[in-house]
Amino acid sequence: MDTGFGKLLETVQKNYRDEDLAVLRRAYAFAEHAHADQKRMSGEPYIIHPVATALILARMKLTFQIVIAGLLHDVLEDTPAKPEDIKTQFGDDVLEMVEGVTKLGNVKYRGVERYAENLRKMFIAVAKDLPVIIIKFADRIHNLSTLQHLPPVKRRRVALESLEIYAPIANRLGMNNMRVELEDLAFKYAFPEEYTRVSGMIGQKYASREGYLDKVAEKVKAKLAEADIKSIVSMQARTKHYFSIYRKLLRYEWDINHIWDLFALRIVAENIPDCYAALGVIHSSWKPVKGRVKDYIAQPKPNGYRSLHTTVFCDDGEFVEFQIRTQEMHEEAQYGLAAHWRYDENKGKLKHTPEHEINWIKELAGIQKEIEGNKEFLETLEHLKIDAFHNRIFVYTPKGDVIDLPEDATPIDFAYAIHSAIGNTAVAAIVNSKHSALDTPLKSGDIVTIVTDKNRKGPSSDWLKFVKTRMARSHIKEHSHSGLANFLAKMVPGKKRGK
Ligand code: MN
Repeated sequence: MDTGFGKLLETVQKNYRDEDLAVLRRAYAFAEHAHADQKRMSGEPYIIHPVATALILARMKLTFQIVIAGLLHDVLEDTPAKPEDIKTQFGDDVLEMVEGVTKLGNVKYRGVERYAENLRKMFIAVAKDLPVIIIKFADRIHNLSTLQHLPPVKRRRVALESLEIYAPIANRLGMNNMRVELEDLAFKYAFPEEYTRVSGMIGQKYASREGYLDKVAEKVKAKLAEADIKSIVSMQARTKHYFSIYRKLLRYEWDINHIWDLFALRIVAENIPDCYAALGVIHSSWKPVKGRVKDYIAQPKPNGYRSLHTTVFCDDGEFVEFQIRTQEMHEEAQYGLAAHWRYDENKGKLKHTPEHEINWIKELAGIQKEIEGNKEFLETLEHLKIDAFHNRIFVYTPKGDVIDLPEDATPIDFAYAIHSAIGNTAVAAIVNSKHSALDTPLKSGDIVTIVTDKNRKGPSSDWLKFVKTRMARSHIKEHSHSGLANFLAKMVPGKKRGK
């Protein structure tokens, strides 16, 4: 049985020191022994999960201790492994990280209060120890990529909490690689129909323009060389950014012509003056689109992102976006704060910790305090919510299950989303502990209880005036037809059904 360890070993061999291999083998034996009796939902041995988690971290070239902690991240939960053993075999730092990940626990999506609690836990972890959060992200990425083995209801919940809790935090930390991974893996399960639609649209677009970006890239390379600018031009595949494209499509009524960065090229230049020079070369080759030139080098984004962006009217009537940056900026754009926990092969130790990292930690600690004080919590929550949810709302059952509805949906939509029998017998609604009309527009975060009456004869056709979901509408209609049929049947006694 291949547990994936061979691939991990190979990656560690490539990215780390020779003496690290022995420790890796020891940690693998330790984890395999601890998880010996456990299986994944897929039926595979449990060890494949921590190995896959460690592989994600090793590929990111994070410090070796983070890789080891990733390999051991689940041993303190439901296995006979002892913290003391981790400490004596792998040291204090590894133990601390493993304990941190264990404490963070399984973030469950259970109503607004739990959400607050989870966010708080996450932020405390960040403020204290960013590696714990990075390991948690790697853990989640692997769990998302094996989500098909979970029952559908659980799948959706894990996917939604990844989009609502994990991805926004990754974004705030500037960890774009992990954010994109989390979003795209979760997107498929959180909004399957939309995912199919987006991937279909993009697939079609690319198929109709095969080889297009290669040609443009060649042209750019030649022009940059002509201008004596030392740089690497790489293509940025947008196939991995379905979720961000989806968010944009929502803003532009699904018109793919509004997506400027469907074709994107990245230029990594040697230094900052060369970045601006490269921008000049591009603008003298193709006309820039007004308002699409952005200088995030002079004015970095709030999460620290730096780059020059421009969109040009490129060959054959296509728009192409260029992102121009230095190697250092490029690394930061991918890893964000995690960049400072990356292993530096030249120095054999951690990379230098710049000032802005410390500011970040301070800022996060501030957010954590806000949440703890609970005063500004809703505002903070609003801040963290991503655009994609702007025309979807998430409403909770009293048990904390999440029901995803369109904007302005009503308690009746909610009732039918749970079960048709609940919709058909609904007589009243309690929204956030208050009695509310059945046509009250719901908001994200509302906790809704539907009061039912078994004696109710079925839905009222008046409900059709306010329901927002197709599901509610079709149930109400269906019921009123059969209601009419029943009524007619009673009017004509003795008449047999059929011909
Ligand atoms: Mn895990």
